[in-house]
Amino acid sequence: MSSSTNSWMQDANIRMFSNGGGMRILEADLKDKAAEEQYDRGEYLRAAQLRLESLRIKDAELGPDSVEAAYTRMHLGHALYKCGQLDQAEKVLRQAMAVRDKKDPMGVDAAIARDELARVLVAKGDRAGAQQLRLGRENALSCGNYDCESACLKAFSFSELKQCSRCKSAYYCSVKCQTADWRDHKHYCSSTSSTTS
Ligand SMILES: [Zn+2]
Ligand SMILES: [Zn+2]
Repeated sequence: MSSSTNSWMQDANIRMFSNGGGMRILEADLKDKAAEEQYDRGEYLRAAQLRLESLRIKDAELGPDSVEAAYTRMHLGHALYKCGQLDQAEKVLRQAMAVRDKKDPMGVDAAIARDELARVLVAKGDRAGAQQLRLGRENALSCGNYDCESACLKAFSFSELKQCSRCKSAYYCSVKCQTADWRDHKHYCSSTSSTTS
């Protein structure tokens, strides 16, 4: 008798917990959405703050190893990169990549996290590190354009991507994507050796 009461209580607790958790996750999702809007307006610092707020909820409710937290970490990393906070960006992107790699190392999400991290490494002047990161998984690469429409659909193989001919440390699925990313990439693109004249 008491055991069935217990299990009923447990059920009720689980329901309450999951409802409460669900509300919190909804709050986190809304913060992610707001972050996206701020990002589109060029308000990168505000976007990063909102991502961080979302992440605190997701870490607490779902755990830092959840794919939901990894998703927000990836976008937080990109927003921090846009704010020039490269060390912080690298840190959160490495965490996001570790979670994605554990779930599906050849999957599209792992490829996106890896490419974002490579972008930060290039910005930090570590092109060799970026190259090593990408070529470690030649058949699961992502397009270097953050807003690429195809990047979230599939991971690319090395031969499917076009390399920035100047610095050879950025990869794109199309000329359109390369052009779109140029505003960002031009700050870090330069020839690797002093052979230009
Ligand atoms: Zn693309
Ligand atoms: Zn380049």
